[in-house]
Amino acid sequence: MRSIQSHLFKSQENILHAFTTKKGGVSQAPYTGNNLAYHVQDRVQNVQKNHFELAKLLNYPLSKLVHMNQVHGNTIINITKEYNPQNRPYCDALITNQKNLPLMVMVADCIPILLYDPIKKVIAVVHAGRAGIFNKILPKTIQKMQKDYLCNSKNILITLGPSIHSCCYEVGEEIKKEAETLAYSFAIKKNKDNYFLDLISIAKQQLLEVDIAQENLEISPYCTSCNTQLFYSFRAEKQCGRFAGLIMLK
Ligand SMILES: [Zn+2]
Repeated sequence: MRSIQSHLFKSQENILHAFTTKKGGVSQAPYTGNNLAYHVQDRVQNVQKNHFELAKLLNYPLSKLVHMNQVHGNTIINITKEYNPQNRPYCDALITNQKNLPLMVMVADCIPILLYDPIKKVIAVVHAGRAGIFNKILPKTIQKMQKDYLCNSKNILITLGPSIHSCCYEVGEEIKKEAETLAYSFAIKKNKDNYFLDLISIAKQQLLEVDIAQENLEISPYCTSCNTQLFYSFRAEKQCGRFAGLIMLK
């Protein structure tokens, strides 16, 4: 089982984090490898085994894992001590200051985002696809960290994990127009008669607007659609599994 670490987060003593890959795991085609999603019609026993092995490898309590029913909205939920893992929340971002509560975001092209404030000891995960980015879920999560946990955005470390990049993210006329209406024309690239959307450049601009320090931001160089040997890509593979971003306060 292979996972990838963020350079920015790896030196932080009080957290455990990872972005998983397809490598390892027992899922069979078309989910081949380490699929962590239960909602994609993979065999439940295989997904359970993948989760079990990942938790053992990274050393976090699987029974406390918090994952989301991700809905491409902008609902952000604070996970408190009273959280019951049986009630998986319908949302696209989670925040907590509780130790030993692993937060997980699952993706296949959308951006899995991990956040950590080492001063206030607060962590968050965000699921950001086009809808989430257009709905500003990332800056909204940071604002909620400031409001509910008194974080200072200047202290927050952020990693954007592997996701579909503008090389592969072709969009139609309608989405191009929507991006222009939202003043994101800078993120539209034209190649012959086709348009490509650069979600990462929009995320970067949104982060600057909420005063995230450039040196506190890391962006994975991996495009999921260009690297299907390592990552699931919905665009490239259609029926496929999900890999994950995971973070926990120790
Ligand atoms: Zn690509």
